[in-house]
Amino acid sequence: MSLLELCEVRAYYGAIEALKGISLKVEEGEIVSLIGSNGAGKSTTLKAICGQVNTAGEIRFAGSDMSSLPPHRAALKGIAHVPEGRRIFPRLTVKENLELGAFSTRDKKAVKQRMERVFAYFPRLKERLGQMGGTMSGGEQQMLAIGRALMMEPQILLLDEPSMGLAPIIVEQIFEIIQELNREGMTVLLVEQNAFQALQIAHRGYVMQTGEILLEDEAGRLLSNEQVKEAYLA
Ligand code: ATP
Repeated sequence: MSLLELCEVRAYYGAIEALKGISLKVEEGEIVSLIGSNGAGKSTTLKAICGQVNTAGEIRFAGSDMSSLPPHRAALKGIAHVPEGRRIFPRLTVKENLELGAFSTRDKKAVKQRMERVFAYFPRLKERLGQMGGTMSGGEQQMLAIGRALMMEPQILLLDEPSMGLAPIIVEQIFEIIQELNREGMTVLLVEQNAFQALQIAHRGYVMQTGEILLEDEAGRLLSNEQVKEAYLA
């Protein structure tokens, strides 16, 4: 059984059908990248998984049916969504942002331990604990957004465009941390415009176009696929 499985999923914004019956799987321990141009439906796929958009079709996570769960229930089931544009709380400190990520537990000791684990990946956050989220650099805010998601000890991380607007060297750091998290067992579904880097760290990938899945394959094979090279890696 796959950790996450979408079967013929459709998603709607009012009358607009943004997903036209997509099927995909993420196995435990994988990094799966979802690539495709603007408007292909990548973000909508993540929103569908965590119940933020109207859907039809089947979404199963860890054996249970997720298709009609409200968003906070998705979080309680172990799905952490780091949305596009990060959305940290700008007027709260780094520490407060992280604590909010652990909303599902009241155990202070556990929260402290989780925070130490986050600092192991993102030492910069420890140095900036008292700083307002909104005053940090884009890269630091992305680290905080991922750190906050880790505070809920999820079973899967859904990352939406973590590289957006960041300098290449910071993007590299973020991608390295994603790989490190994965090496230590975290399953990741990664949405990226930056197809080359996203496929380089992934095990498998899906290429989306206008609400459909155009191609799926091992990441290495997608990287050398002529169609992919021409459309997304140029
Ligand atoms: P991007 O990288 O630009 O976010 P994407 O592949 O993630 O691209 P989506 O954001 O999932 O694409 O959008 C898929 C389609 O749904 C697009 O046609 C988009 O215009 C439409 N769409 C997205 N959000 C909304 C919304 N809130 N209301 C109406 N239509 C929307």
